This record gives sequence, C-alpha cells and structure tokens, in this order.
Amino acid sequence: MGCSHPVSSTVKSSTKFDIKALQIEQLQETLRGLGERGYRAEQVTDWLYKRRVESFENMTDLPHKLRSQLARLFAFDRLELVRALGSRDSTRKFLFRLADGNLIESVLIPASAALYGEKSDRRTICISTQVGCAYGCKFCASGLEGFSRNLRENEIVDQIIAVERESNERIDNVVFMGMGEPLANFENVRRAIRIINAPWGLGIGARRITVSTSGLAPQIRKLADDPLQIRLAVSLHGATDEVRNQIMPINRRYNVETLLSACDYYVAHKKQRLTFEYILIAGINDSDAQASFLAEHVRRLSAKVNLIPYNTVEGLEWSRPSRNRQERFLSILRAGGVAATLRREKGHDINAACGQLRLQTEREAVALPSRR
Ligand code: SAH
Ligand code: SF4
Repeated sequence: MGCSHPVSSTVKSSTKFDIKALQIEQLQETLRGLGERGYRAEQVTDWLYKRRVESFENMTDLPHKLRSQLARLFAFDRLELVRALGSRDSTRKFLFRLADGNLIESVLIPASAALYGEKSDRRTICISTQVGCAYGCKFCASGLEGFSRNLRENEIVDQIIAVERESNERIDNVVFMGMGEPLANFENVRRAIRIINAPWGLGIGARRITVSTSGLAPQIRKLADDPLQIRLAVSLHGATDEVRNQIMPINRRYNVETLLSACDYYVAHKKQRLTFEYILIAGINDSDAQASFLAEHVRRLSAKVNLIPYNTVEGLEWSRPSRNRQERFLSILRAGGVAATLRREKGHDINAACGQLRLQTEREAVALPSRR
C-alpha cells in the first residue's frame, strides 16, 4: 500500500483497519495524503455518525474515485444482530456478531425504566468493551468462559449505532457496564469515548458517559489525570478484604485500601462524585457489618452507592437476599448519612446481567448438535 495515511502500517490486506476506528485528525491526515481538501473529513464523519450510511458507496457527495480509494484502504464493518430479547417498554438486550465471529452484547434501558432505582428520562445503553473478561469475579457470567480479546474502538462505538438502528431510539446516556473490564482496555476505550463524545462523532455529553471498573487502581489514577470529564463507577461488592477476596480475585492485587486511595486521588483531581456499585448476594456481602463499613468508605469519598440485587447466573451458586434484607442494607446506609439507591431490577427475566445472553447462546450452540 503506497499511500502515506497514518494507519497504513496497521492495514493488512486481509484485516483492514475500520474507518470508524479513526479519530478525525487521522482521517484528515489520510485524506490529505490522498490529495483531498480539509473539509472532506467532516463530510466523511457526517456520513458515518450523523447520517449513518453503511458503505462508502453511499457517501454520495464524495467523488467516486475517493469513495473507491477509501474502500480499498479501510474496512467498513457493521455489527450483525444475532438475537434480541425484551420488549419496547422494558430493558432490551442485543447480541451482536463481530466481523471475526465473536459475540458481544449490549443492553438498552428505556427512559421509562428506573436505572439504579431512580426514575430517569434518559435512554441508556450498556456496552461491552471486551470479548469475555479476564478478571473472573465469582458472580459474573462475563468471566465464566475466560477472556478472548479487547474490542477495537469501532466495535465499542458500533454498539451504540447498532442499537439505535435496531430499536429506532435515540440514546442519550452510555454506561460501560457490559462485558469486559473497560480499564483493562484503556486506550481503545479512551479513543471510543472521544468518538462517542465529539461533536463530529455521536455528540453524547461526557457527563452522560459512565465507565465502570472492578477496581484497577493504577488505571483509576491514570483516568484521574485524563482531561475527559466522564463519570466513574467502582464495583466494590465487598467492604472488607475478607469479603471482597471471596468474590473478586482482583482484590488480591489491589486490596480495598489500595482501591480507596486511588479513588481519593480520582475525586481530588476530578472534583466529581464517584459511584460505588454493590451487588447484594445472600449470605456473602449483605450483613449489617458490611453495610456499616461500606457507609464509612462512601462518606470518606463523598460518593454514592447503587445497590444491585444479584442477578441469577445459571451454573453459579449465589442468590439474591430477601427483599427485607435488601431494604435493611439500604436503610443502614441511609442512616449512616449515605446517598444510596436500590435497583428495582428490570430485565432479570431476560438475562440482563452482563455476559449472560452470550453465555446462554454459546451453551445452546454447543448443546444443539448433541440433541440430535
Ligand atoms: N468490569 C466492569 C464493568 C462490567 S461489569 C466492572 O466490573 O465494573 C458491570 C457491572 O455488572 C458490575 O458492577 C458487575 O459487578 C455487575 N454484575 C456482574 N454480574 C452480575 C450479576 N450476576 N448480577 C448483578 N450484577 C452483576
Ligand atoms: Fe469482569 Fe466486571 Fe464481570 Fe468482574 S464483574 S468478571 S471485572 S465484567
């Protein structure tokens, strides 16, 4: 490939770089290398993110020659819908096939549904950042079959485009709470966020983008130093090392205090309120004592808490506490002066916890031939 565009070194004849993985500056440089004027880049991003065409051929205000040059240089992938579950007014779950055949999932939470127990007027999408997950939290379906690979930035952004296409709804809130650990795919996630946020991209405000992490302390500090004004959620799920070690292997690398001090750093640098996510699992992390320790951590950081009743995963032994126990845990937090909500779950019946639909589909695919 003779041209001088910035990604030519990564373009192989079989696996071309997807056009939607480019930042606008890279696109400008590519187009300059092809002898084009600067305004062409905005024309292209307009076709990609505003008008949402699905081929270079459909970019009808570009010269024919340029359209075929772009088609030679770049891939233009589209997520293929494999399965969708849920109804229009409830949480909807989408299973997509990537260009290499891997499966990922995204969840659409409609405006009428209560996210974190709060009424919201926003349509929220929950997106994946990896195929599988390497962190192996004991309650989570995403890690059950291990880790395959990081998602590219276009595969992250395409989930929003594909869900808007399939649902005919406009998404205005993005949470990185699907499959995978976003901060373990830091650079691609960062670049995807830029595309999601940029006026030339999807134009979703940074404060309407939330990244969730299982507690990668060094990356939390790195994110604190980044100018992006996105929100951060930390999956705590245990208020002491004793409890957290039982369910989250990452706690052996970054224990509760290491994690909290990275959170201190984040809050000091971002001047922003952090959210702790806390799944309630019966008999594991739902005691009064855990609630009191949790309240202490939350006060230290002036954070808030989202309590999420555990979502049953087939093959895992855990269960959710009784409604009474959930409410008692919540009331201890509130009595301790902590802002907390309890998620009145939508989507329990459609395997809406991350990784579950993919796992079920793969199990069925394995099970089918043996039924004959
Ligand atoms: N890896 C990141 C983001 C993806 S997981 C993280 O761990 O934060 C997003 C959220 O879904 C996390 O808070 C995770 O703990 C939660 N989750 C995973 N399995 C769940 C289950 N079975 N029931 C309820 N929430 C679950
Ligand atoms: Fe990975 Fe998050 Fe699931 Fe843990 S909870 S296994 S970090 S996706």
